[in-house]
Amino acid sequence: MKFQAIKGVRDILPPDSALWNRVEQTAREIFGTFGFAEVRLPIFEQVELFARSIGEDTDVVSKEMYSFEDHDLLEFEQVRSALMMTSLAADDLLGFQAYERNVLTFVAKLSESFKRGEVPRTPENEKIIRRIPEIFEQMNRTRRTHIESQFSFYEEAFAGCLTGVKTALQSYRFGDRLGLRPEATASVVRAYIEHGMQTLPGNVKLYYMGPMFRRERPQKGRYRQFYQIGAEVLGTSDAPGIDAEVIEMLMTLFERLKLKGAILNINSIGDKNCRPAYVEKLRAELQKVREQLGADSQRRIETNPLRVLDSKLEHEQAIVAKLPRIGENLCDECRAHYAEVKRQLDLRGIQYQENWRLVRGLDYYMRTTFEITAPGLGSQNAVCGGGRYDGLVELLGGPAATKGIGFAIGTDRLILSLQEAGEGATQTGLDVYLAWFGAAAQTAAIGLAKRLRGAGFVVELPAVEMKFGKSLGLADRLKARHAVIIGDDELAAGVVTVKRLADGSQQKLGEPQLFEYLRAGF
Ligand code: AMP
Repeated sequence: MKFQAIKGVRDILPPDSALWNRVEQTAREIFGTFGFAEVRLPIFEQVELFARSIGEDTDVVSKEMYSFEDHDLLEFEQVRSALMMTSLAADDLLGFQAYERNVLTFVAKLSESFKRGEVPRTPENEKIIRRIPEIFEQMNRTRRTHIESQFSFYEEAFAGCLTGVKTALQSYRFGDRLGLRPEATASVVRAYIEHGMQTLPGNVKLYYMGPMFRRERPQKGRYRQFYQIGAEVLGTSDAPGIDAEVIEMLMTLFERLKLKGAILNINSIGDKNCRPAYVEKLRAELQKVREQLGADSQRRIETNPLRVLDSKLEHEQAIVAKLPRIGENLCDECRAHYAEVKRQLDLRGIQYQENWRLVRGLDYYMRTTFEITAPGLGSQNAVCGGGRYDGLVELLGGPAATKGIGFAIGTDRLILSLQEAGEGATQTGLDVYLAWFGAAAQTAAIGLAKRLRGAGFVVELPAVEMKFGKSLGLADRLKARHAVIIGDDELAAGVVTVKRLADGSQQKLGEPQLFEYLRAGF
């Protein structure tokens, strides 16, 4: 069997990994100078954490999350599967009675596990334990009264009973529902609350980097395992200067990485005072043009009308252009906040474009939102998204006074854009290929390799003896800068032969001279 990486998931190989390291290292350095410290977060969390923060109705949670039930009740799982797969004819009374007995025996076992706390003691599980016997009782009543007189009615009730029982069985939770994280802000906030970080002095400034998981349709710049570098500021202040400084930090990073053509888009999407009214206004306008919209946008009229503004569909553009704009519907506080964010960006000499359609996909954002696009990425051109999320800490059970703002850079896309612009990593490469011939030479070579590496040179030491031609051929193919040769002659003379592979020039040197020579060409 030939194994392959899973669809939408990539290996990051050398030499690309060197660029990844450079990007991550630069982020650590820049973020460090702004007083941010790294938080290392778990890859999986309770699904509920993501559902509550990102929003049940977002694509990220409702369609794209990799989730699983975490338990070791394999036997329960097997019994449930068997009960789920059973099919019965309405007139098979004996079969039905056996099925009822089996299900009720299983429910009794579930009930005991529930009491012992082996399965999650959720209200839903409790309800299911009560509900299943009720469904059977009702079915038996219907049978007694209708099986003779109205068989078709009975048949329908029978089918309904089986579906009801199976749905209930399916909904029963044997363990916690866990999900691979689709983003990390929810985890940062969870950690902030869990560790009581609100008692720390000043704003809590954290950054993270690592893989995220979303079951999206893979294409260039969109993967199912992708990477983000993100940062969050949590604290009691929502001063616009914080928003501007976070953006300044980002732009500093992009500048240091020589990312060219990055464009900063900003917007304000209001807060809980002004946004609901705007959303209703938007919904009402969207209802009027419902028939002209695609299926996704039609669905979003109910679930999340703001997302219609995100539409990339050609034929919806003219419609969206005429929709009411949030900027004209902000309350006084939000308007003032947004104006001050812009002034603070100006103070920092940061250029931006205002984009009233920038709403961001996740529910928790409010007021400032921003996105940065970069060239060379085709349709997936957003390298970074972020915004303010003042209500999120409270929503997840933390102190109501805590405000937050943050961003996430799509590392894969940042790297792609750098590579497209020719800013790929310059590989360190091999300084020395250390060819040795004979057992005594190997001993000398092992010692010399150790001292060369100790001085910071990159050294390749063949593990087994090779013929001269083959060894030097390999040095060439590995693109070593120098071949250092140790054979019997060199050992006798207390020198090494060093050959510069670019021009073939070679000379015999003692060890101190060798180090000097290599350093000079470093
Ligand atoms: P979001 O968490 O959706 O705000 O995304 C923040 C950034 O992560 C985006 O601007 C992208 O650069 C990146 N991103 C999001 N989803 C993906 C994906 N499936 N593949 C690669 N990058 C992604």
